Parts: sequence; structure tokens; C-alpha cells
Amino acid sequence: MKACAKCGACSVVCPVYRVTGREAHTARGKIHLTQVPELAGQGTVYEDIFSKCLLCGACAAVCPRDIDVRREVVAARAAFPVIYGEHGYEKYLARKALAHPETLGALRVLGRLGADLMTRYLPAESGLRLRLALFRQDVEEQVSTGPAPDNGQPASRGSQQILTYFPGCTGRYLFPTIAAACHALLADHGYDLQAPAGLSCCGLAALSAGDRSEARRCARHNIAALALSSGPILVSCASCYAHLRQYPELFADDEPWRHKAEAIQARLVELSCFLDTHPPAVSASPGAGPPKIRIYYHDPCHFRHGLQGQQIIAEPRRVLGRHPALELLELPGGSECCGQGGLFHISAPEIAAVIRDTLAAKVLALAPDVITSTCSGCLMQWRLAVERAGSRVPVLHLAELLATVAE
Ligand code: SF4
Ligand code: SF4
Repeated sequence: MKACAKCGACSVVCPVYRVTGREAHTARGKIHLTQVPELAGQGTVYEDIFSKCLLCGACAAVCPRDIDVRREVVAARAAFPVIYGEHGYEKYLARKALAHPETLGALRVLGRLGADLMTRYLPAESGLRLRLALFRQDVEEQVSTGPAPDNGQPASRGSQQILTYFPGCTGRYLFPTIAAACHALLADHGYDLQAPAGLSCCGLAALSAGDRSEARRCARHNIAALALSSGPILVSCASCYAHLRQYPELFADDEPWRHKAEAIQARLVELSCFLDTHPPAVSASPGAGPPKIRIYYHDPCHFRHGLQGQQIIAEPRRVLGRHPALELLELPGGSECCGQGGLFHISAPEIAAVIRDTLAAKVLALAPDVITSTCSGCLMQWRLAVERAGSRVPVLHLAELLATVAE
């Protein structure tokens, strides 16, 4: 790693530092800790500091020395016990659930039942009540294109071109309306999405927690399943896409698997990029005229500060901007992190809530009709944000939004 210039540019943009004001939470502070032998890797305070990172990459984007602290944080976490930091056990359980994504569907049903029962008795300001709001399906039902079968694949229309699809755990099990919307949307573009059997979690949560072995297990499953198909692989979740692109790096010391990972990496195509270069065969009509639907598009950090120059910022805006019924809104100061950060919102709920609610206040002041994004984690965070703000603005995946306005 290059030597830190201690310029402080990373402090200015760090969402965690903005809330806590603690130098240890900046990239500069963490790098310092890793380089002082008597401090490095020592104890629960150290573990807690390294758990307080969203892995958002805002610091790397402004660092004049090209230091990307995300790698240092993940490497540090790899040496921690299985359960570390505040709310370590909850993070551990979340990772276990993701290791068996097929259980997420059942958890969703249980969660919804729990939400229906418990929200009757929990006070309005309860954090648990807000979390249970995730399982409310009222927004999803507005855009449901019918129940998705087990693998999120409705019946083929026959004459369509086959396109391999990676729906991710959220699209497949937790919020299947996202996968269903992707199927409906891509069918209008002449494609029949096929999710291969045997896909697992992408493994991002495991890697972020420092569990490289579990991340590699997930990656091997997915590489083997995807290798049975050919042609482009469409990915509708920003986090999954960003992580799938990192698969070759996971196998840096395993040449055969690295080659397989590179073959998969070369086939990946992100949803908004695909839609940008594949406009629908029949353009949407201007509709009933003004007023247009006011859209706030939230940039996932994985795309705003993408690793290896993998930024995807203009593409979703072009897709939304060319739709005659939509008006794109922007924050005057530019996009900001929503505070979800994979499992960060579990490990640091108070900090995540401040980041979330601060951003939500700015966005809701724009008076959007819909908030959209392509990251399943960001979408969950936004649903909490809207609930917390007492707003009823729908939060939709980009595919759900586009499938709705295409009808
Ligand atoms: S921006 Fe980079 S060089 Fe400057 S203090 Fe932060 S990590 Fe060090
Ligand atoms: S990755 Fe994000 S949260 Fe972590 S130190 Fe950098 S700016 Fe802060």
C-alpha cells in the first residue's frame, strides 16, 4: 500500500466520520491503526473501529495516493473472531441466512406475519417497528407482475432471445417482484430471462465480514452454475454485480478458478447498462402528458465509487431521462450514501440511521413521486427512510418502476 499523505481528503467525504467525528473512523485513521504495531489487530476496540466502515469507497475516490481502505478493512476483519464488533451476533445470523438464501423466502413470510402483528403493539418510533416495515408488501403489490416461481422464471414467450439472469438473493427470495419486473421488462425488449439452477448468494456479505472462505464457496457455486450457459449474464442488483466483477480477485492464488471467474466476469452486464444500449422495440408513448412522474434515482455506492473504475452513473440516468413520462430529480450537492452498507446498518444502527435520515430529508424536500435504485440493500434502507420520515413515497427497483410505466 502506498504511504498515506495524511492530507485529510478522505475525512471530508466519509459518511461515518461526518456522524461520529472520530478520526479512527476515517480511512486515514484506520490506515494509521494498521501500521502501528502495538495497536494493529488488538482487541475489541480495534475490531469495533474496523466494523464502523460502510465500504462505500468515497475515501478511495478522492485519495491522491490511490489508497483504497476497503481492502485494508476487509483484510483486518478476516483476522477477527467470527462474532466481532457491536451487534456482532446479529451480523453473524444475517450472514448465516445469506449462506442459505432459500431460507429467505420463509423469513420474509414470517417477517411479514410478525410485522402485521407486532406493529399493532410497538410504538411508532420503535426501531424494530421500522425494521419490520421492510416486510410490508404494499408497495410491491402496486407493481406486482404476478407471482414468481421458485427460480423467478415465468413461462417463456417462445420466440424471445434467451438471456442468462442473476437475480441475487433479494430478487429471488426476499422481494420476488423485482425478478418478476425484470422478466416483464426484458420480455418487452425481446428477451427471455433464464436464471440457472444452483445459484447461491453472491458472497459479498461474507467477504465484507472478512470470511474469504465462505465468499469463495459462494463464488464457486455461482461460477459453476453460470458456466453452463453462454452469452451475456444480466445482473439486476448493483451489489451483486459489483461483487461478481470481483470474483477473479477472490481467486488470485488459484489459477484454474481465476480463469473460470474471468470468463464469467467478461459476460456480466448490469441492468441499466443493458437497457441503455437496448432501448425497447416500441418506444413508450408520451402518455397523458404533464405532469410527469418525478423520480429520484439513488446511486448505489458500488456504482458511484466503483472498484477498478467500474462507475455506473450516467447509464441509469439516460434510461430514466429518455422516458417521456418521467422527470429526473437531482440533489444540488450530488448523490450521497444511504447508510445501509451491506451489514453496516446492523452493526452500527445509530450511525446508519443518522446517515439515512439526513439524506432522506434532503431527497424528500425535492418532492419525488418515486425513489428508485438498483441495489437491493439501498432499496431496503430507503423503505426504512421513507417510513421513518412518515412519507408514503413508493420506493421501487428500477425494473419495477420501468415495468410499471411501460404498461
Ligand atoms: S485521502 Fe488518502 S492520502 Fe489523504 S489522508 Fe486519506 S488515505 Fe491518506
Ligand atoms: S469506505 Fe466509506 S465509510 Fe469506510 S472509511 Fe472510506 S469513506 Fe469512510
